[in-house]
Amino acid sequence: MRTVTELAARAEDVWRVYGEGEARVTALRGVSVGFRRGEFSAIMGPSGSGKSTLMHCLAGLDSVTRGTVRVGDVDVTGLGDKALTRLRRDRIGFIFQQFNLLPTLTAAENIRLPLDIAGRKPDPQWWETVIGTVGLGDRLGHRPSQLSGGQQQRVACARALMSRPDVIFADEPTGNLDSRSGAEVLGFLQRSVREYGQTIVMVTHDPVAAGYADRVVFLADGEIVHELAEPDADTVLDAMKGLEDSREPVHA
Ligand code: ADP
Repeated sequence: MRTVTELAARAEDVWRVYGEGEARVTALRGVSVGFRRGEFSAIMGPSGSGKSTLMHCLAGLDSVTRGTVRVGDVDVTGLGDKALTRLRRDRIGFIFQQFNLLPTLTAAENIRLPLDIAGRKPDPQWWETVIGTVGLGDRLGHRPSQLSGGQQQRVACARALMSRPDVIFADEPTGNLDSRSGAEVLGFLQRSVREYGQTIVMVTHDPVAAGYADRVVFLADGEIVHELAEPDADTVLDAMKGLEDSREPVHA
């Protein structure tokens, strides 16, 4: 019998070491964390704490030095390049701070691109739902340069959602947006989790953005140091302050 895992992605005792000798940096030190299906998780932590490294390892964009990463029931650490490319294409969606849209393609073409590359057609009903939810109906023929930052990120969200991936990884998705556009994008991500059961893992340094998640995982110096369920901006800020205080050197 096939057991269906509750976890869309997980890291088990993951270490990532860059460089050698004096240039050696340990970015992740034995991180174990799981991300449940249908949950919106945020990864927070100071600059250099290992957030991007963890996300890249989870998404198969970077290799681990030790430990295991799984997406669904697939052991990502055991895959070759071709299988990794297929896994990323078929089972993972990405949203980046810089939107990463192709400038020569229209919004609709950008949204369809991952499916085109995979030789698949969008499900017409799902297409309508996603386009309607992100509010892009009258902008589909526009090129990225004809769209605002918020609209471009909504195109990127629609692109990530269109293939109904096992998990969407979002790297500072509101980092380049004003607060109103950021709130729109975050509201849309939250809706895709609550209404359509999408799984999202988002790296952010913004407590307001993390407040949209169902759960926040805090990293410091390559280790998970804290977790918060049902966060809002205030409880996230409090947790950040508490972590900073506990890290301050004690002077005699
Ligand atoms: P964050 O996303 O929290 O800012 P990163 O995951 O980018 O942190 O980085 C964690 C640590 O690993 C930092 O000390 C960073 O300098 C180092 N690091 C990240 N990527 C590389 C790399 N490709 N080569 C060498 N060091 C790296």
